[in-house]
Amino acid sequence: MEKRDQLYEGKAKVLFSTDDENCLIQYFKDDATAFNGVKKGTIADKGVLNNLISARLMFLLETVGIPVHFIKRLNDREQLVRRVEIVPVEVVVRNRVAGSMAKRLGIKEGVVLPRPVVEFYLKSDELDDPLITLDHIDVFNWASHEEVELMIEMAHRVNDVLLGYYANIGIHLVDYKLEFGRLNSDMDTLVLADEISPDSCRLWDMKTGKKLDKDRFRRDLGGVEEAYQEIVDRMGVSE
Ligand code: UDP
Repeated sequence: MEKRDQLYEGKAKVLFSTDDENCLIQYFKDDATAFNGVKKGTIADKGVLNNLISARLMFLLETVGIPVHFIKRLNDREQLVRRVEIVPVEVVVRNRVAGSMAKRLGIKEGVVLPRPVVEFYLKSDELDDPLITLDHIDVFNWASHEEVELMIEMAHRVNDVLLGYYANIGIHLVDYKLEFGRLNSDMDTLVLADEISPDSCRLWDMKTGKKLDKDRFRRDLGGVEEAYQEIVDRMGVSE
């Protein structure tokens, strides 16, 4: 697989084309941003750790039959992925109240939801990723009705798998963000894309409640690298 041009640079990752038009290389940076780019910094080795974590979780999801864009981890910071057109909505799954849900609804962080909640946000830095309704997605054509149904169904399946996986290593999966894409080789096929890492998840230690995710960076709690490393260690994915 030959790495070619840089196609896109995002806040935490860079995408490169390859000699296969349907495959890209996804490179994980150490850059960290919060509050839609207002707070910026770097977290030492974050790219290496997120590459390991995301690769393991995507592999796990694929083995239980959830279609993913991930193909394989190439090296410390790079993965080979299927080329997709990203659906312009972010799907957030919540098991407990935290973050923007706590703020928006005035409910205490940590309250366990009676069932997982799926929310949609428009991918827009200028607008600060606003919360949107299913009707908005439909009326503005951001995704088809079938795609929305599939995203909701896949989000619940992902949640079942990840809740169990994290519980096994003593971690509460509080909430997280998923992105989906349409395969370049077949636009009718929707797959899970982007990454699943402590950048995009809230992960709390079951015993102590310690935050092991990007909230340590967002809220200046310190020990950010150590928290990401702790996830890697508990997952047993150092190679
Ligand atoms: N999230 C993300 N990218 C975003 C917005 C949210 O990865 O652009 C993740 C975030 O890390 C958390 C979950 O989605 O695990 C829910 O985030 P929330 O809506 O509470 O917003 P936040 O508090 O991060 O502003």
